[in-house]
Amino acid sequence: MDKRITFGILTVSDSCSNGTSQDLSGPGLCQEVEQCFINSKILFQDVIPDDQKQIEETLLSWSLKGCNVVLTTGGTGCSPRDVTPEATRAVIDKELPGMSQVMMNKSYSVTEMAMLSRAVCGIKMKTLIINLPGSSKGSKECFQFVLNAIPHAVALINDDIESVVTTHRYITAGDVGGFGEPSKVKVGRAACRDRESPYVMKKVVEALEIIFHECGRTTDSEVIRIENSLNRVLAEDVHAKDPVPPFRASMKDGYAVRAKAGSGPRKVRACIVAGDKPENKSLNYDEAIRVSTGAPLPDGTDAVVQVEDTQIIEVTADGNEEAKINILVTPSVGQDIREVGSDIAANSKVLNKMDVISAGHIGVLATVGHSKVKVFRRSSIGVLSTGNELISHKDTVAPGQIRDSNKLAIINLLQQHSYEAFDCGIARDDPNSVKAALYKAFSRNDILITTGGVSMGEFDLIKKVLVADFSALIHFGRVDMKPGKPTTFATLHFRGQRKIVFGLPGNPVSACVTTLLFVIPCLKYMERRENYMFPVVHSSVVPLVTNNDERPSYLRAQVRFSDGAFTATTTGNQVSSRINSLVNANALVVIPGNYKNYTPLETFHTILIGDLAN
Ligand code: AMP
Ligand code: MG
Repeated sequence: MDKRITFGILTVSDSCSNGTSQDLSGPGLCQEVEQCFINSKILFQDVIPDDQKQIEETLLSWSLKGCNVVLTTGGTGCSPRDVTPEATRAVIDKELPGMSQVMMNKSYSVTEMAMLSRAVCGIKMKTLIINLPGSSKGSKECFQFVLNAIPHAVALINDDIESVVTTHRYITAGDVGGFGEPSKVKVGRAACRDRESPYVMKKVVEALEIIFHECGRTTDSEVIRIENSLNRVLAEDVHAKDPVPPFRASMKDGYAVRAKAGSGPRKVRACIVAGDKPENKSLNYDEAIRVSTGAPLPDGTDAVVQVEDTQIIEVTADGNEEAKINILVTPSVGQDIREVGSDIAANSKVLNKMDVISAGHIGVLATVGHSKVKVFRRSSIGVLSTGNELISHKDTVAPGQIRDSNKLAIINLLQQHSYEAFDCGIARDDPNSVKAALYKAFSRNDILITTGGVSMGEFDLIKKVLVADFSALIHFGRVDMKPGKPTTFATLHFRGQRKIVFGLPGNPVSACVTTLLFVIPCLKYMERRENYMFPVVHSSVVPLVTNNDERPSYLRAQVRFSDGAFTATTTGNQVSSRINSLVNANALVVIPGNYKNYTPLETFHTILIGDLAN
């Protein structure tokens, strides 16, 4: 267990201090500290006015009294009375600009106004001082952004070698950190472990039904910038405010004319190009106006004649401009003119609720002047690896170690399907480590994907920790499929919010196949996509394969469509540890259990997970 971290929470606000407004940020931070650092102690909490001297005195006094961390909230902005950064800077011995920068960067992705923050972080004697914004939401958010580094910073400041090691491992590997009581799960009694899984085996379709039922479809929406809206689901119909085009525009580089005057000579009165203001002097029958594509047409114009259908007759005295041209082809009324609203009529519906936003949709939104759009909300997703043997893919392996491939493979698999997921580190096969990593993951994410630790070994702890420490409900813990048998699905409540856990097997192929079969359809279903399942075709398989297992087998394969039929070629050895079988696989071919004697003409249920091969 880690040592206690002591906190002081200081609200700096004139109005809270004189009682004209209520301090929500200070109590909010106390709650955050208690939840994120179960083993912490809040030594001091106070509310003081925006007075530099008073702030300095309080920081100094709390530091002298042995506070490990002081969180200030308020007074970091640009108002004349905002002086918390000045007071902090006057007190600290060393500044920690990285911490303020992280807060700034992350807050900027929430609101552009973050750039106006002047928060300072630094060290006074043995105390870490962190300026947080004044708003209750902002202060909590910023605290979350830096919280992982706090135990390690405190250990370093106090020169506590033992804690320096464990807290650093925690940051990089999701190991037990400064928060969390020990897990209730006890290990090390191999003789007492289950020899048969207590979980009922579910068919894949049953498992999916449970997932859809438990996760449901969101009704929450949010308004986002159209720049970030690709692949999101529209939560409302979109109407055009203005017509497109908003003025009568030329479709060609040529001449605006009156059609009734037919072919023949015209005086070139002026030139109008795209971007010019429309001319309000009406066009005469014997006149033409040289126009470019997209130029606004003058009144009286009812046809545009493309330059290719004209000849020059006369030039101006300086020889530079056209004075007279000849129209070679008789123009017809409306020729090469885009009338007002001919592409999009004013107030017409241009996009439908439930559409998945494509590049075309974004083009339309931009055209009709919607810079923001209402879409269904997505849940935040975390991915956690488990296993003593795992190290980061960036590190050199020692004997007995392997690189964590699941986390990156899954994060990128989700990204291929437009979902962003966060790296929640690696937990060791130790109940405290698993608990701490889950705790941390749940504090930021609504959906957690774990890999490893769901099989029958005594160190397969995911289900046990979920149940014992988080009171999770395991909806299923075994699925009738190969690979992927130990796939686990659970729900729980954490700080009053519902969390969803996919406990996927550790073998790299199993982890990816189950992400494809369960997680991706679930994410699409939750955000209300109409097509949430991968398309299915029927294909013959080469080379001929048999399935001696009772479970249906999901073979990785490359599928082609030729001569009116789909043919799947399996991608080599299909053992579940061999991640190479996923390289260039665009399909999962389902071979039923105990399937031996089939003919080359037989076709199989084939789930298309990528583009068809040529
Ligand atoms: P487990 O499901 O924890 O029993 O792990 C099954 C197999 O998958 C073991 O050989 C693990 O070493 C391997 N494995 C588990 N997690 C990962 C991972 N994140 N990356 C690569 N291999 C893994
Ligand atoms: Mg393991």
